Amino acid sequence: MIKERNTKQKQIIYSALCTLGHPTATEVYEYVHEESPTIGRGTVFRVLGAFAESGRARRVHLRGSDERFDATTSPHYHARCRVCGRVSDVFSTELAHFLAATNTGDFCAEEAEVEFRGICRACSAEKK
Ligand SMILES: [Zn+2]
Ligand SMILES: [Zn+2]
Repeated sequence: MIKERNTKQKQIIYSALCTLGHPTATEVYEYVHEESPTIGRGTVFRVLGAFAESGRARRVHLRGSDERFDATTSPHYHARCRVCGRVSDVFSTELAHFLAATNTGDFCAEEAEVEFRGICRACSAEKK
């Protein structure tokens, strides 16, 4: 019974993560809480952490922002709009190859996080 409830909660949290894109744990909690007030903050944080451990989601760290979660786990990078703050995905095999081939000296790099900062299309259209 408890197991079933946990599965249901995980599904709700996972679908919120997919809908929101690159939310912080707090954003997921607020979103989930609207629909399912019985799901507590602790549960949301714990479940997101478990997703990250199991590879179902990954943690994203952008400059000056709380940790975010991402349901897209294939290699990609992020672009963040300095006006609306929206985070979008950038897929670049060239960049992935470049980073993988980069000599980091004595350091064994396991991953690299790249953040592009600028202005999104919607915000740049609004400015004109
Ligand atoms: Zn924008
Ligand atoms: Zn992403």
